Formats: sequence, structure tokens, C-alpha cells
Amino acid sequence: MNGNIIELVDLTKKYGDFTAVDSLNLAVKKGEVFGLLGPNGAGKSTTILMLLGLTEPTSGSVRVCGIDPVTNPIEVKKRVGYLPEDVGFYFNLTGWENLMFTARLNSLSGKEAVAKVNSLIERVGLRDAAEKKTGQYSRGMIQRLGLAEVLLKSPEVIILDEPTLGIDPTGVVELLQLIVRLSREDGITVLFSSHYLHQVQQVCDRVGIFVDGRLIAEGNLKQLSGKLYEGAPYIIEAGVNFDGIDLKNTRPEEWLQEKLRGIEGFIAVKPGADSYNIECQTDLSAVISKTIVMAGAGLNYLNKKEYGLDEIYNRYFEGGRSNGRRH
Ligand code: ADP
Ligand code: MG
Repeated sequence: MNGNIIELVDLTKKYGDFTAVDSLNLAVKKGEVFGLLGPNGAGKSTTILMLLGLTEPTSGSVRVCGIDPVTNPIEVKKRVGYLPEDVGFYFNLTGWENLMFTARLNSLSGKEAVAKVNSLIERVGLRDAAEKKTGQYSRGMIQRLGLAEVLLKSPEVIILDEPTLGIDPTGVVELLQLIVRLSREDGITVLFSSHYLHQVQQVCDRVGIFVDGRLIAEGNLKQLSGKLYEGAPYIIEAGVNFDGIDLKNTRPEEWLQEKLRGIEGFIAVKPGADSYNIECQTDLSAVISKTIVMAGAGLNYLNKKEYGLDEIYNRYFEGGRSNGRRH
């Protein structure tokens, strides 16, 4: 298994001559929280169904915990907890009763079931709602209960399909942090799909960007950012104070440009909202700060500009879309 809990090789799913998942290669390591990020129709749910053995690949291979879900779906189901987009509960039963029902289905003895259900209800933060009928639960509470249900069988892997859909922003953050905390505490590998960037950015160790059935980029935020902006200039954002300097009718950015011109690797200064963006070929922070100060200006701060997942996703998303259709 070489440390990979999930391993997909050239995984492809076609519906007729429409390719929903196109030669997907992906490996997720034990204990990792992996975010499958992509717009609607990208093929996220189809991929998840193949991971669970709920739909058969057209070609390529899937291994989950070293097991092939195509030939051995039952073994995979024992190890993997799955939270679908729409979790179903008996709405006329309480949260506690619903979990007890599942616990008994999973062949836990009465005493064992009670202990485990109580502890999980506590862990997902539903103690106060345990005696309420789930028909009265909010979407966020249902997802928490779903998470508790998934954890009942002590899975090695949890797969969640759009777990945050329809939850308010604060609920989303809480739910995702809960997922990550539970995964860390129990060493569980997590794969979840989402089309919300911010959420994925906050909690995932690694992200795969999925567009039109293809994984167009994969890695942690730094790797993705580096890949996207390869060859683009370094941008250093400088907060400069010109008090006490006679600019002699030149604009501040021109004054800065003049002072920095002699530095090897310096490209240009562009004015920002209330700072200046200094473009250079490499990270010249040290020499730039020294030069500005020596020239008599005040330096309030100097930051290397980091790109957020938003920018990365949009760049890739546009790239993926413009690469032609798949058929
Ligand atoms: P996502 O979960 O990323 O929104 P899906 O995996 O649900 O995407 O769908 C990927 C594409 O495959 C979509 O264009 C969808 O319409 C198509 N698709 C999904 N399931 C089927 C099916 N059973 N038959 C035909 N097309 C399907
Ligand atoms: Mg989906």
C-alpha cells in the first residue's frame, strides 16, 4: 500500500460517450485531509462513488486501504465511512435514537452501543439536541449527526461529499474544524469534496482542483501557488512613509523607482491602494528595505505577496475550461 490509503490510477468513468472522470491519478496518504475542489459537474461525486464501489469505473484502477472496491466492495465499506450529500435520518426519531439504530445495525451490543453513541454525540457537539427529533435539526446539526454516525464504525477513512452545502458560514467553519479535529485525534484519513474555496483552504493538508473530469492541479497551497506563478515576478508589498522627503513634484512611485533602479533583479514599482508593489526577479526584500531607509524614507512594512486559493482556483478554472471539451 506504500503509505497511500487512497490510490487512483488512470481512473475513468464514461456515461455513453460522455466522460465524467477522465484519467484521474491521485494518491492520499494515511492521516491526510484531502480536499477535492471543483465546480458543479466536475466529476467529484462520480469519483467518490467509484471509491466506494457504488459505481464501476470504465477503466483504470481504484484502491482504498489497499482493497479494490470493484471486486471487494464489502471490505471497503467496512473501513470507509461515507457521508453523502443528502444524509438520511428518521425524522420522527431523536438524534440519539437514530444513532442507536445504526449502532445496533453495526452489531454493537446494547451497552457498547449506548456508551459509543453517548460519547460520539458529545464529540460532535450535539449533547443538548440529543433528545430532539431530527426533523427539527438544522442542516448543520444533521451533518454533525451524520459525522457521528459515520464514526460509529470506527472507520480508517471518511469520505464526505459536499458536507457544507446549505450550512451558514459559521456553521461551515465549525463543521470543518470538527472534521479535522476528529481526523487528527483518531488518525483518520479524510477526503471531502467542495466547491467552496475558502473552506478547503482553511482545513485541508492538500487540495486537488478538479474541472471537467480532470484533475488539473494538486498539492498544498504553496505548491499550487508556486506552480501557477512560475516565471511571474516576485511581488514585494512595501508600506512607505515619505514624511520629511522633498519629492520635488515627482510621484512617490517614481521617486522609489529612481532609488531602486540600480538593484540587480529589480523590475518596477507599481502603486497599490495604500502601499507600493515592487516587482523583482528574486526575493530582494533585504536590499530593498535597506535602500529605501538609506534614501531617507520611512518603511512601515515589507511583505512578500502571497496568493490565495481563490486566485489559484480561478486561474486554473479558466485554464481548465479553455482547454476544450472532453468527448
Ligand atoms: P460533481 O459532483 O462534481 O458536481 P458529478 O460527478 O455529479 O459532478 O457529475 C459529473 C458529470 O457527470 C456531470 O456532467 C453529470 O451530469 C454527469 N453524470 C453523473 N452521473 C451520471 C449518470 N448516472 N448518467 C449520466 N451522466 C451522469
Ligand atoms: Mg456532487
